[in-house]
Amino acid sequence: MADTRHTKVLIIGSGPAGYTAGVYAARAMLSPILVQGIEPGGQLTTTTEVENYPGFVEIQGPDLMIKMQEHATEMGCEIIGDIITSLDTSKRPFTATSDSGTVYTADAVILATGARAKWLGLPSEDAYKGFGVSACATCDGFFYRGQEIVVIGGGNTAVEEALFLTNFASKVTLIHRRDELRAEKILIDRLMKNPKIEPLWFHTLDEVVGEDNPKGVSAVRVKHVETGEISEIPCKGVFVAIGHAPANELVKDVLEMHDGGYVTVKPGSTETSIPGIFAAGDLTDHKYRQAITSAGMGCMAALDAERWLAGQE
Ligand code: FAD
Ligand code: NAP
Repeated sequence: MADTRHTKVLIIGSGPAGYTAGVYAARAMLSPILVQGIEPGGQLTTTTEVENYPGFVEIQGPDLMIKMQEHATEMGCEIIGDIITSLDTSKRPFTATSDSGTVYTADAVILATGARAKWLGLPSEDAYKGFGVSACATCDGFFYRGQEIVVIGGGNTAVEEALFLTNFASKVTLIHRRDELRAEKILIDRLMKNPKIEPLWFHTLDEVVGEDNPKGVSAVRVKHVETGEISEIPCKGVFVAIGHAPANELVKDVLEMHDGGYVTVKPGSTETSIPGIFAAGDLTDHKYRQAITSAGMGCMAALDAERWLAGQE
């Protein structure tokens, strides 16, 4: 028979939003349970230096997340390495089923499932995922020592990935569909000064070209967005860095959403369209999407849950 656990507050997700909610809910004596999901520590575990989290001039992303986990644990939040596979919000207590088979019942739920990397959706991109195509420079950059690499995108992630990859690659081509980057000025400045990086403006990825024996990438075909002209760039690695999509699978078609799948919360609050279900971090936020704003919303969610639970008694 499935193991069933009841908690006052179930926190789903272990990024800055989830762990901060864990700290606050534990300090409110709510004995929260936090389920970490497939990526313990969340998106920051896929990056290197974080330079904009107050209190740390510079800290490695994975180290920051370990500190947050330790903080939540120390305060009394129970942290469980499991994945929630479904959430029933139709009756209270809410019921969450997990990959391990454990069923969690909860008086309130804080959703902090964050976001995941977006892909271009090309068949050739899919065919070479894990064989030269990646969405995580920190994870895979080391494999491309002395090789040529391309990075697709023009935001903070693309620029940071391009900069990071120069630690390994002989050359990095940053392919962007416009001639203007949306990354922060300080990062653009570093990019432009780096002799190993060459931007390729007004181009999109048309096809990843590779071989099957052994399986790997040999080039990319890129298309000029105005002329349609196709050209080929030799490379061994393709890093897709075109943003992230909210991880809303548990509540799709259940909660109100906006901007293509971000969970809607009441202004100035973390209350969703179902009382007792709260949402925080990148799952709700298409605008700021930062560790500090996610942590802030995690705090708000725990305080909102505490007040809502008190009102139910
Ligand atoms: P996430 O960090 O996305 O975490 C989501 C969590 O939910 C994960 O633990 C996942 O395992 C869990 N989860 C998902 N589905 C389930 C499920 N079904 N069951 C259980 N758990 C689940 N921001 C900055 O402020 N500074 C930076 O320098 C910076 N650098 C970045 C570099 C990169 C490469 C990337 C991708 C992002 C960066 N960001 C940075 C943005 C920052 O990482 C995010 O804004 C922040 O991590 C969002 O926190 P979150 O808690 O909302 O969710
Ligand atoms: P982003 O800011 O949404 O940028 C995505 C980039 O990819 C844009 O330049 C976009 O082009 C391009 N793009 C999107 N779809 C595309 C497609 N189909 N084909 C080609 N190009 C495409 O995403 P992000 O860079 O991952 O950043 C996400 C959030 O995390 C942001 O809020 C960012 O500030 C934050 N973050 C912060 C840091 C930091 O603070 N150091 C580091 C990383 C991320 P257009 O510009 O033309 O739209």
